Amino acid sequence: MNKKQSKEIVKFWDEYKTSQTKELRNKVEKRYYAFFLNSLAPNSGIVKDIKLDRVELFEKNIGRIIFSIGKYKPWLVVKNKANQWKFTFDEKSVLEKLTTGWISEKIGKIRFHTQKPLTDGNKRNAAKLIDKFNELEKIFGYSIPVIDYYSSPDDAKISSNVIGETDKGAGNARYRIIKAVDRLDQTHELVHVFALEIGYVGPFIDEGIATTFGSKDLVSTKESCKKVATMLENGILFYLNGSNFLQAHIQGENVYGLSQTVMKYWHKKFGIKKIKMLLKKGIDDPLNIPKIIEEVFEKTDITKKNIKEILDNKCKKSRDIYEKS
Ligand SMILES: [Zn+2]
Repeated sequence: MNKKQSKEIVKFWDEYKTSQTKELRNKVEKRYYAFFLNSLAPNSGIVKDIKLDRVELFEKNIGRIIFSIGKYKPWLVVKNKANQWKFTFDEKSVLEKLTTGWISEKIGKIRFHTQKPLTDGNKRNAAKLIDKFNELEKIFGYSIPVIDYYSSPDDAKISSNVIGETDKGAGNARYRIIKAVDRLDQTHELVHVFALEIGYVGPFIDEGIATTFGSKDLVSTKESCKKVATMLENGILFYLNGSNFLQAHIQGENVYGLSQTVMKYWHKKFGIKKIKMLLKKGIDDPLNIPKIIEEVFEKTDITKKNIKEILDNKCKKSRDIYEKS
């Protein structure tokens, strides 16, 4: 039985890699369709670079695929419904199995899962995240009943297995789940959880939201300001393409800084309601991101023009880290 299902999952991935876009709806749970289409699109460069490392089964109908890309081993959960395997972000049952023997402590609306009991220092960091949780409920205008936060020890074997990351502090967000390596105040990932609750419109928008509400200013020096201004010359449309965005990020470009600058501007001009509307539209229309941005916000060349102005002013004002007076 297990062997048969493992084979099915391998086959599922083989078929996924070369799927037609229209077939993808059968291979991904509907609410994450846009995520996969824009981050792990079939026939894309990123899919070609990824190798299947191994498959694990947890129950009859739940498994995970562990990938291998460079030194990274990210993993994704697949669920079988009505004889069809599908990718899902609903990882709770898998994480419960991976963290057998860990300790759970609920503080506010967050259930923290750690290998060892929380120290006083841990609890102070957790309290910061609870404050942020309350703040985000007000900003986004809805409440989330409870989320699960898995913090692994700073141990490559455990963090790779459970979190899918190995750098201390690194994390990722799933449906009502945060995973992080030895860190209990991942506010950036918490914002992702709030955004994923509504929808997903590709990494530019997703990271723009997470950095606007959950990160420090990422364009704070003259040097970074100039670099982001240079990137802007490619146009907003270029980075709205998920593959371009991720490739620029992997190459070490401050593409998060660009998305933060743009989202801060859109937030100020159009407000959170429009941002939520955009996220919702992305679920049904993930192939038409530029179109829905025009519908909900404005034409991207108007955004580009205004961002250029914002950056020009900022570059003039911001001091270079190397020329502190
Ligand atoms: Zn992020």
